[in-house]
Amino acid sequence: MTAVSTGPKTEVATPPVLTASLAERSRRAVWHPCTQMKALDDFPPRAIVRGEGPWLIDEQGHRILDAVSSWWVNLFGHGFAPITEAITDQLGKLDHTMLAGLTHEPVVALSERLGALTGLGHAFYASDGASATEIALKMSAHSWRNRGLPGKHRFIGLQGGYHGETAGALSVTDIPLFREAYAPLLRLSATLPSPDPRHALEGVSLEQHTAACVQALADHLAEHHASTAALILEPLVQGAAGMGIYSPSYLSAARALCDQHQVHLICDEIAVGFGRTGTMFAHQQALDANGQPIRPDFICLSKGLTGGVLPLSAVLTTDEVYAAFWDDRTAHGFLHSHSYTGNALACRAALAVLDTFENDDVLARNRAAALRLSTLAEPLTRHPRVKAHRHIGMIWAWDIDTTDATFAARFHRAALDAGLLLRPIGNSLYFMPPYVLTEADMVHLVEGTLRTLEQVLSGDAVLSSAPGDRLA
Ligand SMILES: *Cc1c(COP(=O)(O)O)cnc(C)c1O
Repeated sequence: MTAVSTGPKTEVATPPVLTASLAERSRRAVWHPCTQMKALDDFPPRAIVRGEGPWLIDEQGHRILDAVSSWWVNLFGHGFAPITEAITDQLGKLDHTMLAGLTHEPVVALSERLGALTGLGHAFYASDGASATEIALKMSAHSWRNRGLPGKHRFIGLQGGYHGETAGALSVTDIPLFREAYAPLLRLSATLPSPDPRHALEGVSLEQHTAACVQALADHLAEHHASTAALILEPLVQGAAGMGIYSPSYLSAARALCDQHQVHLICDEIAVGFGRTGTMFAHQQALDANGQPIRPDFICLSKGLTGGVLPLSAVLTTDEVYAAFWDDRTAHGFLHSHSYTGNALACRAALAVLDTFENDDVLARNRAAALRLSTLAEPLTRHPRVKAHRHIGMIWAWDIDTTDATFAARFHRAALDAGLLLRPIGNSLYFMPPYVLTEADMVHLVEGTLRTLEQVLSGDAVLSSAPGDRLA
């Protein structure tokens, strides 16, 4: 008999098998994000039952160090008391209310404090990063329309840029796999060269590469400014491109060029905000001609905003953009809403995050932690199979010399067995840990990574297809 079934098993009508493992029940009932579900047959998801600081604990009691901050969201570990207590306190008062025609203390206080921290205000809320991108794109184009420039409705993104996976956000995201699959749904934007030095041609210095990328932007804007609403970019670090770290001088130049050509600059700080790059916000490391931090026209925030506990995102903008909507006509108002806009519990979590930055001098503590982890990680940096390495703030990345397309998936699985949650992007292995690692945690992280690397490179790990990785 050769009756091998290749199609999915029809399980929809099957009653839940309560004796099955959590992983098995998940495989049947949950459609996991950016995962080829078929691959879960061989590699079921790990069932996590508890979180303790930077550690995740699975059903069998294995402890796994969350070295990617649960997809870059977690800042202070799991079960961080100030956030838990703030949410619990808020639950006793008001869980959620709509934000059209109503308001509440947590959303007002959070908006005031985000305004004071960034110099931008008028906070508009959603629940995830992609929605923040959508809001910034819509707000930018609509503001030009309200100002009598309806032709300015196109966008510029950067090569390798990532801004989320809804249709609008995908149109400014340059990940070929996503773009190809959804191309007919997208209104493609211009994609300009990335200042990530890994794209520099042989023999071209970092300065020359940055200058060439600035020139490409200048040329594009000179030709297309009349139809361009905004340039959207990830300040300093292109995360999904494998932690490509680039020079702040590119950002400074981009700000000046956008001003010159009447084009908005949208800084997507979703991954890099809240201290990740060493400053509260990454764009603050780029200075203008007067030596002051540049001012974007829009800042998108999410991920670390609530310390990785509740979904929340915010878009902040300038008085000028806000003024373009200030009108008696409804159609000139910003036409956008989400049911959970400004959720009170999520806002309280965010306020607890801001309190923690203020009270615990998180940025200074991170500087000391980063120095220590960089030192401990030297054997990794010097590893003969590491082609390139880079570090900024609380992000480290090493490009591994391998042509094995399954490297990321194999590394991810082998790392789990070593008690580490790590998900390389292509051949870029990176750490993006919560800010609360102890010395022992760091030693576990580096030693486990080195062991896993040896094992994967020597082919010891099981060679096989693996769960789809969001970005691999
Ligand atoms: C994660 C991410 C997003 C999308 O956020 P989601 O909450 O996953 O929709 C957008 N931009 C950047 C830079 C990100 O890292």
